[in-house]
Amino acid sequence: MYVYADNAATTRMSDTAVAAMIPYMQEFFGNPSSLHSVGQKAAEAMMNARQTVAGCIGAEAREITFTGGGSEADNQAIITAARIGQRKGKKHIISTAYEHHAVLHTLKKLEKEGFEIELLPVGTLGNITAQQVADAIRPDTCLVTVMFANNEIGSILPIKEIGAVCKEKGVLFHTDAVQAAGHLHIDVKDMNIDMLSLAAHKFHGPKGVGALYARKGIPLVNVIEGGAQERGKRGGTENVAGIVSLAAALKECCDHIDENAAKVTALRDKLIEGILQIPHCALNGDPVNRLAGNVNVCFEGIEGESLLLMLDAKGICASSGSACTSGSLDPSHVLLAIGRPHEVAHGSLRLSLCEWNTEEEVDYILAELPGIVAYLRSISPVWKDLESGKKQFIL
Ligand SMILES: *Cc1c(COP(=O)(O)O)cnc(C)c1O
Repeated sequence: MYVYADNAATTRMSDTAVAAMIPYMQEFFGNPSSLHSVGQKAAEAMMNARQTVAGCIGAEAREITFTGGGSEADNQAIITAARIGQRKGKKHIISTAYEHHAVLHTLKKLEKEGFEIELLPVGTLGNITAQQVADAIRPDTCLVTVMFANNEIGSILPIKEIGAVCKEKGVLFHTDAVQAAGHLHIDVKDMNIDMLSLAAHKFHGPKGVGALYARKGIPLVNVIEGGAQERGKRGGTENVAGIVSLAAALKECCDHIDENAAKVTALRDKLIEGILQIPHCALNGDPVNRLAGNVNVCFEGIEGESLLLMLDAKGICASSGSACTSGSLDPSHVLLAIGRPHEVAHGSLRLSLCEWNTEEEVDYILAELPGIVAYLRSISPVWKDLESGKKQFIL
């Protein structure tokens, strides 16, 4: 059996998204800046896509800028707020300890330029409160950037409340909604969001294309210099097929948001309940307040990487929070942020489901996983020490 359970990393494209892009690669392949009809067809498609995306999040078409993905949108939003702040002598930025690296690394860069970055601590259940944000805001705060939902442990943040706090205090508010778009209801006006990032490949669209919503009046700063595309805010010939596909994929997900969430939540809860039967393991994040498809657990006494390889041998695609896969030996900053000790954080597993997963697949994972964990523990020196009492169990 083959089970794809890594939808938080990326998703399979939907038939709708694939079909939407094909005409713009061969038939209407023109450059949207060209005056001839093939170019104008492409320009028209982009206009419609912009309108569709805006409609899905309660924005206006002119408030949407297409980017080369979620990371670029995050970079552009944060750099924009920093430059606006800098002009007014405001150099304090509030974020959280468990943001995506697209946010954290951009903030690090600004820190080197003299910005003061304050990362809010995360509760043990993966929670951040609007009160924490309110307490952290100072007269020199130029930006609050807080993710809509966490990509590793699935926490859903109180975005509307945080938006209200930021509005009241007159501070720009950006949210990385890459995990939320297409999966959770978003209304940028109602939620007082000034800037929002999304990426097509997290909702069955193509990779390498995303969007940045910026409330009208916010002067976006370019991160890609070039021609006058995207009203001068993002140089480079537009990825027309990708943009059209992004819009089609987002619309399809948003049209089925509640039914997809209900289906995926039931699968998720069955999976969590089954996994928690395994001794010395624990759920990461909140059991209820989490993305419909997110399962993240820690197993004591094993390494996440070995677990992933053995699952893969059984046809199960998953991911681990420990970042050895990304060339670093440090465990996930997200798991450390919720207080998991290093040795436990190394034994993490993330299974992220989508509406195409089935109950049979969940049953298959539950049939294979306990044996793999038991085997890895049987060959683990750490597990030996735990069993003999030389080391204390944490979970
Ligand atoms: C995937 C992801 C990103 C990065 O998006 P890309 O399109 O891969 O650049 C940023 N933030 C979050 C929360 C994500 O899950």
